[in-house]
Amino acid sequence: MNRCAVVTGGGSGIGRRLVLAFAEAGYTVAFSDRSLSDSTDSLVAEAEQRGGSVRGFACDVGVGPEVERFYQQVADWFGTAPDVLINNAGVQTWAGLLELEEDSWDRVIRTNLKGCFLNTKAAARLMIDAGKPGSIVNIGSGCNKLAFPKLVDYTASKGGIEQFTKAAAVELGPHHIRVNCVAPGAIATERTNGEAAGYADKWAQLTPLRRVGTPDDIVGPVMFLTGPDAAFVTGQTLWVDGGVFSQA
Ligand code: NDP
Repeated sequence: MNRCAVVTGGGSGIGRRLVLAFAEAGYTVAFSDRSLSDSTDSLVAEAEQRGGSVRGFACDVGVGPEVERFYQQVADWFGTAPDVLINNAGVQTWAGLLELEEDSWDRVIRTNLKGCFLNTKAAARLMIDAGKPGSIVNIGSGCNKLAFPKLVDYTASKGGIEQFTKAAAVELGPHHIRVNCVAPGAIATERTNGEAAGYADKWAQLTPLRRVGTPDDIVGPVMFLTGPDAAFVTGQTLWVDGGVFSQA
């Protein structure tokens, strides 16, 4: 049977890698990004070369009407409800609490936390209406365990995602929809490439496995949580951080 997956923020980094992973696993994949570009076109082409069926949609995950339209388009294209949703889209600002602007706080919370809520609600509604079991994975962060300076908005959003995961798992469990969270450590992506020089080396030194992660490291845990081997796992957070956040 044709399985269908939705990945938010699929145009780059971890999301892009997950789009390709689901396509390679035989899923039909719809992804959202704030806007479509040459880069998202090349992702579709790459997935198609690998035999996958992938389509990108412009949708801001934090804007209700855009999310509603996105799931109408997705359901029309799939011809059914999604089996899997990966809430991956995320942003951060680097500002201390005392300097952080209200607009920046709103943007981070709206994208990371409200986006997770809006997409979960819309996807779960389609799954329930179709009588389909489903699996949702929210991409959290190591910030759920340890706090860092200049990430107060991001930390609040990711802590919220971990708690949202538990609450959604409780409500959606009776509908046979599982909800889990993957919390990455430092992962080298387009986003972290923009960090200060020495970022990767610093994190490699701090990490017990002595390297930063790559988007490939996120694939296996997400496939496990969305797949049949995790059929009795819900409401959990799986840390994919090379051990860095297990340290005192
Ligand atoms: P990237 O910035 O590389 O990718 C994020 C993607 O989300 C981009 O394609 C971006 O599009 C998209 N996006 C941003 N805002 C929105 C929005 N409002 N609506 C739709 N799409 C949006 O980030 P990463 O791959 O590094 O991060 C992916 C997830 O993993 C995030 O949730 C992040 O918090 C989390 N994470 C990452 C870690 C890391 O070290 N990389 C560590 C821990 C967690 P655009 O390019 O247009 O902005």
